[in-house]
Amino acid sequence: MLSLKQVSVSIHDKEIVDDFNYTFAAGETIAILGHNGSGKSSLALSIMGHPRYQLAGTIILDGQDISGVSPTDRHIAGLFLSFQNIPEIPGIRVSEYLRTIYNTHFARQHIGTKSPSPFVFRRMIEKLLPWLWLDQSILDRDLFVGFSGGEKRRIELLQVALLDPSVIILDEIDSGLDIDAIDILRGQIDMWRLAGKTIILITHNFHLLDSIDVDRIIVMRDGQIEREGDRSLVETIRREGFK
Ligand code: ADP
Ligand code: MG
Repeated sequence: MLSLKQVSVSIHDKEIVDDFNYTFAAGETIAILGHNGSGKSSLALSIMGHPRYQLAGTIILDGQDISGVSPTDRHIAGLFLSFQNIPEIPGIRVSEYLRTIYNTHFARQHIGTKSPSPFVFRRMIEKLLPWLWLDQSILDRDLFVGFSGGEKRRIELLQVALLDPSVIILDEIDSGLDIDAIDILRGQIDMWRLAGKTIILITHNFHLLDSIDVDRIIVMRDGQIEREGDRSLVETIRREGFK
């Protein structure tokens, strides 16, 4: 569960999000819609603690006030945000990257316990791959280098499976998704919901909204919540646009 209380976001003294109040409940999928420039990505990045933004207000994650903590600590506390543009990083293998982020989490969550050996870790990852229709060979490739949009997204979903965050924010991930990847995402979202996670889906894509079981819809305009409702709001917006 993620609660935002009187959250305002600004950049260079320009206010981008103004007095945002909302509780994203556990086990719910909430879609955030709105024109380009309405502040959706700025809100997501500042929830994650991006240093570019000044944030005022309170962010409560599963009962813990995380407003003042570093992005790494927010991640470890259970927040996950997908990248809008995923960078290619030559020289680092996917398996090394995953092991590094996993060990960082593990060390903080199990103080004094040794993290799994490379062999055990590899077996753990290999068990997750079929769920994401990924082949083992992907683990030995350079991080995101030459990956298709769908492959990049599936590696992000693999990170979610590995790190088990409680709040998952996906910012316009549809751009890189082919039909297969949308099916995989739908399956993952169903699993996450059953596990009581909170899913925040920022999207313009009506096809994605039709394929995914969304509980609540938020429409943002000029940094504020303009409207909020159940999924019938999707039909209203499809008919009338963002008025
Ligand atoms: P959305 O994701 O809804 O399209 P954004 O959060 O990207 O909206 O942008 C909201 C507003 O904040 C826009 O007016 C945008 O120009 C401004 N903004 C976002 N990032 C920056 C930045 N780094 N510098 C200046 N203005 C920014
Ligand atoms: Mg955006």
